[in-house]
Amino acid sequence: MIVTRFAPSPTGYLHIGGLRTALYSYLWAKKNEGKFLLRIEDTDLKRNSLEAAKAIEEAFKWVGLKQDGEIFYQSKRMDIYKEHIQKLLDEGKAYYCYMSKDELDALREEQMKAKQRPRYDGRYRDFTGTPPSDIEPVVRIKTPINETITFSDGIKGEISVKTDEVMDDFIIARSDGTPTYNFVVTIDDHYMGITDIIRGDDHLSNTPKQIIVYKAFGWDLPKFYHVPMILNPQGKKLSKRDGAMDVMEYKKEGYLPEVLLNFLVRLGWSHGDQEIFTMEEMLEFFDPKDINKSASAYNAQKLLWLNAEFIKNMSYERFEKELIYFDLDLKSIEKKEILIDALRQRVKTLKEFSQKAKTILERPTSYETKAVKKFLKADAKKIAKEFLNYLINYDSNLNTPSDYDKLIVSFLEQYQLKLKDIAQIIRIAIVGSAVSPSIYDIMSIVGKDELEIRIKNLIQFMEEKNE
Ligand code: GLU
Repeated sequence: MIVTRFAPSPTGYLHIGGLRTALYSYLWAKKNEGKFLLRIEDTDLKRNSLEAAKAIEEAFKWVGLKQDGEIFYQSKRMDIYKEHIQKLLDEGKAYYCYMSKDELDALREEQMKAKQRPRYDGRYRDFTGTPPSDIEPVVRIKTPINETITFSDGIKGEISVKTDEVMDDFIIARSDGTPTYNFVVTIDDHYMGITDIIRGDDHLSNTPKQIIVYKAFGWDLPKFYHVPMILNPQGKKLSKRDGAMDVMEYKKEGYLPEVLLNFLVRLGWSHGDQEIFTMEEMLEFFDPKDINKSASAYNAQKLLWLNAEFIKNMSYERFEKELIYFDLDLKSIEKKEILIDALRQRVKTLKEFSQKAKTILERPTSYETKAVKKFLKADAKKIAKEFLNYLINYDSNLNTPSDYDKLIVSFLEQYQLKLKDIAQIIRIAIVGSAVSPSIYDIMSIVGKDELEIRIKNLIQFMEEKNE
């Protein structure tokens, strides 16, 4: 069985890059009917861990991922780590190192002078003397001397490192007894039964150290997949300036969760030219061995484009459901389908949809100065009054956009006017500016009574303006 995990450090939110790794891990486990586990790496930041777990679960819930079983917290597993440190000490695979800070500094200085890489020289590796009484020792693992650590990375291919070149006897427990990062990750991955580790390639240099820990215990290695980073369009590390970091920010900005997943799955992985995937398709096609070897660039325009594509094809029910988050309750709106169809081609996010919809549904409280200057010419008041009068006395049915089309045609005929003489007046009356979907749609959406009120309000505004 394939068991994967997502192992974030608790920052209090789910990072966009983290979500991609989580998604890859999730897909790989689920397509193989395996398990996807969640572990909070909170050995340093215990206070934040519950909040962090909540934030991750909230973001997972939004995008539709879910871990299997309970969440693992490293802070609750200290006894296991300590026990394993002791085991290695007992077996002579790790040892206490009593080097003082001054000694370490002196060694560093010497190595720098000799243009050598700073590394611990193993001076306590075989120490049998009497330990100095004033030093709280650290515990170091015995890294095999002159060995080559080789592993086959599912993305990067075969990786070999010489222990003497890249590693020394690294610390597995600090002088206060707390275990170090690479040690606890290995213990956890082993006992959680992780078979496949999919993580960012910023962890690539940790892997040989973790392999040394696996070997010290005689455990089988999992399969490793190191995923290249997401970079910004300039090829630098992704930062807040390039896009939101917190996954929930994307919700606030009006992106759909499946859009974010589509965007992320394609950042670094592809299946032919396909851009849009359902969850079923992702599960069917995803394979970590097809993840790109090189870094991918975050492309905000593409994310917007994808979102707009999804919005164009979204069901009315889904609009109604999603827009509640943006303070827009479509339930009681009679012409919601006309409203949705009038706007869905014109917006890229749900937030934008909500803003635009509100300009139609809510009476304007002011009129845009530029539009007023440009379109409310000297005869605008007269035309608006004639239109209002015509509307009040109009006795055919007014319901659909085409009913309003007929109204306008007959009005223009009667007063010998052109469409451009009235269109912007109606627009400004309804939405307060000269930009809106078709006037027939927006008249139908607000309905006859409300249209009368909005035309009256505009007339009043023009009268006050002229006084
Ligand atoms: N906690 C690490 C991080 O947030 C991930 C460790 C791992 O995946 O092995 O970057």
